[in-house]
Parts: sequence; structure tokens; C-alpha cells
Amino acid sequence: MERSSPAVPEPEVYRFQEALPPLTAHEATVEAHRCLYCYDAPCMQACPTHIDIPSFIRKISTGNLRGSGRVILEANFLGATCARVCPVQELCEGACVLGKDHTPIQIGRLQRYATDHIFERGVQVFTPSPPTGRSVAVIGSGPAGISVSAELAKLGHRVTLFERRELGGGLSTYGIIGLREPVEVSLREVEAVQNLGVEVRTGVELTDREGLDVLLSQYDAVFLGLGLGAVPALGIPGEEAVLDGLTVIEASKVEPWRLKVGPLALGKRVVVIGAGNTAIDAATVGRRHGAEVEIVYRRTEHEMTAYRHEYEFALHEGVRFTFLTQPVGVEVEDGRVTGLRCVRMSLGVADASGRPRPEPVPGSEFVIPCDTVIAAIGQEKPALAAQLGLALENGYIQVDDGLQTSLPRVYAGGDCIRVRGSASTVMAVQDGKLAAASIHAALMASPVAAD
Ligand SMILES: Cc1cc2nc3c(=O)[nH]c(=O)nc-3n(C[C@H](O)[C@H](O)[C@H](O)COP(=O)(O)OP(=O)(O)OC[C@H]3O[C@@H](n4cnc5c(N)ncnc54)[C@H](O)[C@@H]3O)c2cc1C
Ligand code: SF4
Repeated sequence: MERSSPAVPEPEVYRFQEALPPLTAHEATVEAHRCLYCYDAPCMQACPTHIDIPSFIRKISTGNLRGSGRVILEANFLGATCARVCPVQELCEGACVLGKDHTPIQIGRLQRYATDHIFERGVQVFTPSPPTGRSVAVIGSGPAGISVSAELAKLGHRVTLFERRELGGGLSTYGIIGLREPVEVSLREVEAVQNLGVEVRTGVELTDREGLDVLLSQYDAVFLGLGLGAVPALGIPGEEAVLDGLTVIEASKVEPWRLKVGPLALGKRVVVIGAGNTAIDAATVGRRHGAEVEIVYRRTEHEMTAYRHEYEFALHEGVRFTFLTQPVGVEVEDGRVTGLRCVRMSLGVADASGRPRPEPVPGSEFVIPCDTVIAAIGQEKPALAAQLGLALENGYIQVDDGLQTSLPRVYAGGDCIRVRGSASTVMAVQDGKLAAASIHAALMASPVAAD
């Protein structure tokens, strides 16, 4: 079963820019004036960080862009990232009352308009409170780590943010395709947290329990925003020749030339395995680099975990989908991939996930010729959590309502605790806010340790 639409040729200059252009001043004002400024606004309830959306939109309509940006950033320090990456159709815009009969307000694009105004002018929105004498170590500079660091710094705590990668920002920097969020946007947020006095130490990794104990002897609390692990193994012959979707997306953002030459070169025909948002993103990268791209998935379009709008976007980009198809081996000749061996599947009774179980159709094996196979079947659970001696829930870090882990003074948030529901940037930001509130309450309830 296949679905595809013709490729939309785009001039080279548009290939790697943000897919949606910024609103002009006129467009933003017109859009802001459409808002009904609902009392008990449903969009605000649908936003996991509960930004006062009617208030920031009203401020845009009166030309008060600083005030608008402040309203957004007070509730969500990563408002510029979220404006670009939030699945707004499922969240704020999906709840807009205008959506019932008309087009919903473009909340994400208005949010981008206001936050870009702040960042492009280098406006300092926040002033930290006087120092409290308490200190917190934050591990991981993804959305959860940046959010908790910002909130704690605003409250006057001394925060050190440790990041193992060279650049801060987590998946906003390395994992979300440039068409949605350019690297500069997340790096500006890292800079903004530094402007609040947070010390960002990149190239430093927490590796074991001993390291955690050292941090606990030096800081009053520790927050873990570790994210998730690598793409899991496929477990098929020839796997060593398969590229991992996250590595491909990362290269497209920070070193795009690597997708043209060398071990990451994509070639002309790319097959992507998976049907989540990472698969869609990796496929989009392939298309923008000029390859023919086919996604293979063992179930049907109805069971895909990718958001519907992402699926539609991939079709628009010219990605071909081959459903009910299971990869069983990678064909490799002289070290080069030449094809992906697959079998056709049919759907049987429901499995543990509640979705119909795909079963191989006997004798249906066939080969899809290709130059590159990319695996994009999700991410491994946070392996470090078990080594740190933390209680786990289904492989994720177990936390209480205040996001405290099973170890006293150790908190966690973001993807590494997301046992249920789909992981998203805005959820990680909200975790950072909740954890900061819990840490602040605990620190202020205890006396400052003598030096
Ligand atoms: C390809 C892809 C596309 C996505 N697209 C979207 C999207 O469009 N919209 C959306 O809302 N969400 C999207 N997501 C999900 C979103 O990116 C995550 O939910 C979000 O980044 C989680 O934030 P986090 O801070 O928990 O983790 P991460 O962003 O993963 O950050 C964790 C950070 O911790 C660092 N770290 C880990 N372990 C250590 C250690 N031991 N020592 C020091 N540092 C460490 C890592 O290097 C990393 O920088 C996407 C995810 C992927 C993979
Ligand atoms: S943070 Fe995301 S969900 Fe909340 S208002 Fe902004 S775009 Fe919508």
C-alpha cells in the first residue's frame, strides 16, 4: 500500500530556511485583531505552560511587543522555540473557539513574532532576585534543563548547568529540523539563561553515581534533564550499514556537508524505517538534500505515531510511504548499501499496545533498491538513570508530583520522566517550571549551609 504526492520543486535558497516565514507587522496586527480575547480562554488551558494567550495577543494588537514578549517568556522561557515546534493543532490552536467555524488564530506564529522582537533586540526581560545563598546543579541543557535553570536563577539561586555536548539546547539544537527551528533560535535561549547568571559548562558529562554524589556534596539540589538515548537497534542483518535518524538530522543542522560526502552521504535513493515524527523529519532532510525518499512502516497510516500534520507535510515534500512492510535485512555490496530486504505484512488481532498486530505474509519477500537506509524508530530509555541508583518506572526516572526522584535532593524532568503521553518540548518546559517551584520551596525551607 503506497501513498505519495508529487515533489514540489523549490529554489535552492528556500530549501533549508524555516518552512513558515515570519509574520510581517501588518499581518501580525491583523491576526491579533481577530482574537476574541475569551474570558477563561480554552487556548490557555490547552497550552501545557498556560501562557496568558489573550493578554500577549492583545499587546501585539496595541503595538506593545515588549510587553507581549514578557507575558510569553514569564510563563515559558523557551517561548521562541515553542512558537516554532509546538504541535499547535493539538494544543492552543486546536482549542481556539474560532477554529469551529473559521480558521483558528495563528497563536504559534504570533508568539514567534513577539519573542523574535525580544531576542532580535537583545531585550533583557528578567532581573534575577537577590542571591539566596542556595545552589543547584542542572544536568542537561535541553528544554527541561534550560527551563528549570531560568526559573531558579530568576528566584536568586546560583545555578550551574552541565551539558555533555559542545552546544547547549538539547534536541532543539541537534534534533529538530532546521525547517522548523534553526540552530540560532535555541542557542539564543542558551545565551538568555547565561544572561540571568547561569553558568553553562558544556563538554561535561555526568557518568555515574559517584559523580552525582560529588554534585550533591557541592550543591543544595540536583536536577536531571537527561533526555533519552540513541535510536534502538533494528536487529536485522546488515544493520551496521544503517544510518541513525538522529545523526542524520543533527548533521543537517550543524554540518550539512556531511550528508553529501563521506560515511553520512545520503545518495540518490533513501529508505527510512519508522513512522514517528523522527522518521518524518529524517525523510524531509533526505528530500531537501535532493534524494528520492521512501518511508517503510509495518502497519498502516492509521497506526502511525507521527502527528497528522507532519504526515501531510511529508507527503507535500514528496516523501513516498510504503505501509504494511517490514524490513528483514539490509543488502550490502563492497561495504555499500544496495537495498533493503522487506516482507509484506497483514494486520491481525490487537497486541498489547491496542493496535492490530502486523503479521508477515508468507513468501512475500522483496528488495527496495536504495543507497541509504535510515533507522528512525524512536529513542532508547535513559540508561544512566539505572546506574545512578534511581527508582525507575518502565525504564524512565520515577518522580513524585513535585518531580523529586527516589533520591533526596535529586529532581528530574523532560523526556527522561515521560512514561506516558507523547514527549514534547513544551511539556519539558513545564516540567522545568514545576521542578523549579519544588526545589525553591525545599531550599527556602532549609537553613543555608555554612561554608
Ligand atoms: C527528531 C525529533 C524531532 C522532534 N520534534 C519535535 C517537535 O517538532 N515538537 C516538539 O514539541 N517536540 C519535538 N521533539 C521532542 C522534543 O525535542 C523533546 O521532547 C524535548 O527536547 C525534551 O527536552 P529534554 O530537555 O527532556 O531533553 P533533550 O532535548 O534531549 O536534552 C537533554 C540534554 O541533556 C544532555 N545530557 C544527557 N545526559 C547527560 C549527562 N549524563 N551529562 C550531561 N549532559 C547530558 C544531552 O546532551 C541533551 O543536551 C522531537 C524529538 C526528536 C527526537
Ligand atoms: S507554548 Fe506552544 S502550546 Fe503554548 S501557546 Fe505557545 S505555541 Fe501554543
